[in-house]
Amino acid sequence: MAKRRIRNIPGTGISKITLAHENQKLERHQDLTHYENTFFQCGKCGTCRTVYKDAYWSKVCPSGEFGGFEAYYLGGKNLLTWAITTDKLKWSENLAKIFYQCSVCMACIQQCQIPEIHSFAGEWLMAMRQEAVKAGYGPMPEQAKYTDHVMTEKNPYMEKNEDRLEWLPSHIKLSSDAKLAYFVGCTSSYREKEVAIATAEILNKLNVDFTILEKEGCCGSPVYMTGQTEKAKKLAQKNVDIFKDAGIEQIITSCAGCYRTWKDIYPNKFGLDHGIEISHLPQFIRKKLKSGELKFNNKIDMKITYHDPCHIGRHMGIYKAPRDVIQDIPGIELIEMTRNRHNAWCCGSGGGVRSSFKDLSAFAASERIEEAKETKANALVSCCPFCLNQFKSNIENGEIQAMDLSELINKAL
Ligand code: SF4
Ligand code: SF4
Repeated sequence: MAKRRIRNIPGTGISKITLAHENQKLERHQDLTHYENTFFQCGKCGTCRTVYKDAYWSKVCPSGEFGGFEAYYLGGKNLLTWAITTDKLKWSENLAKIFYQCSVCMACIQQCQIPEIHSFAGEWLMAMRQEAVKAGYGPMPEQAKYTDHVMTEKNPYMEKNEDRLEWLPSHIKLSSDAKLAYFVGCTSSYREKEVAIATAEILNKLNVDFTILEKEGCCGSPVYMTGQTEKAKKLAQKNVDIFKDAGIEQIITSCAGCYRTWKDIYPNKFGLDHGIEISHLPQFIRKKLKSGELKFNNKIDMKITYHDPCHIGRHMGIYKAPRDVIQDIPGIELIEMTRNRHNAWCCGSGGGVRSSFKDLSAFAASERIEEAKETKANALVSCCPFCLNQFKSNIENGEIQAMDLSELINKAL
């Protein structure tokens, strides 16, 4: 007897009743055997390569477009996953590379119209990385190197932990007994310091009683995303202990990866029910705008286009909050790129790709920058320092400016 299931995933275009075999208890899981009857639901149709229902057949998969072979698209990865789970294929260096040459951006998964694949393929893409680690073929050497550094110095940038707060200017007012903390993250602490400064200045301008914890360490996202779950769990536990011991009840993030890690990975993948309310900066600001506590006073005459970071977009479903905030800033004109929201093309930095597959990473960034330039916007704006860093490193000739939403918010206040 088959069971009727309803899949209704907001904003994705999937909303229909389908049939699932009774013995398939499909809830989120990272054990591959859990999905063993599912991989073959893949019809190898190739829908996961382009935007579903898009008249222009816009490409979505950086891995497939760069790799130029079916194995790099989701359909191929499904088949390889099936082959591994049924012992038809053994792990090898080349096989592991196929799974790591992917930013786990989930764009392919959004397009697939097989509900079980649409809902769960992200789990098995991650599970295959975990299997690669167990088999001794993962992570990639550069990822192993930064992980060693994260485990000792709490950041993947080969920087010293003691320099983590060097970005913090003396004019920022912190409160020693605040219940709200700004979790800065490694990229804003060491690379895109203007994001950290803008966020802290915004909180001061809004008279928010907040703190920054000196002992904060890498959220663990770059470790988790490369299949090193046990190490990532240790980092998560340390952070949770630090923030709980300090009596923190609410965290604000300015990094999309940190937000998802605290909000989703810690409780749902690591079982750490920290009970701390986690908000990404645009969500926090939108709430203040809606309640009337905040009003933008300064006009910014700019045409901008907005890039959805994968970690808050497809992974967490946050598309509206940043757009609402942008549209509230007087003078700003938002022009959307062809691929936006759940169809956005990944910037190419996540999932360990930037450290280990530089050509793929640069290819993905250039494709997005070209798309942004087509809008004739002055700035390509995101709300993630990792996306920002990626765009800044790949924009040539200054034809378009890369910015973080925190900088715009700060200017408008
Ligand atoms: S993953 Fe989905 S869209 Fe891609 S080939 Fe398989 S069935 Fe088609
Ligand atoms: S997760 Fe992203 S990069 Fe990986 S196969 Fe899917 S679309 Fe391609």
